[in-house]
Amino acid sequence: MPYLPTTTKYKWIRQIKKDNKIISYSKPEYRKIYNSQRWRKLRAEYIKHNPLCVICKKDNRITEAKVVDHVKEIADGGDVWNVSNLQSLCDRCHRVKTARAVNNRKKKIYNKER
Ligand SMILES: [Zn+2]
Repeated sequence: MPYLPTTTKYKWIRQIKKDNKIISYSKPEYRKIYNSQRWRKLRAEYIKHNPLCVICKKDNRITEAKVVDHVKEIADGGDVWNVSNLQSLCDRCHRVKTARAVNNRKKKIYNKER
């Protein structure tokens, strides 16, 4: 999970935290998806055919993928089961991508409330 900076520079994050509107992967409905037999099967099948991290591959690095990621995040309305919305990522790239997406969502919520 990405951590939240606690400096005053990020006042808006604390504001949102207080509002309890952060859309995160700890939500039970996401956990239900990732724990489901259907997802496990899809994930296993996908990573078998796409064993390398696509972001690393673009940088000419060969890295074993550990995560099947949703290109458009579920929290942003992405399709959970559509193969064209999936990509293989290594742990590192997945962490970077997820942190960025979560931050973008928080900013969006914040801007809406101003
Ligand atoms: Zn990678």
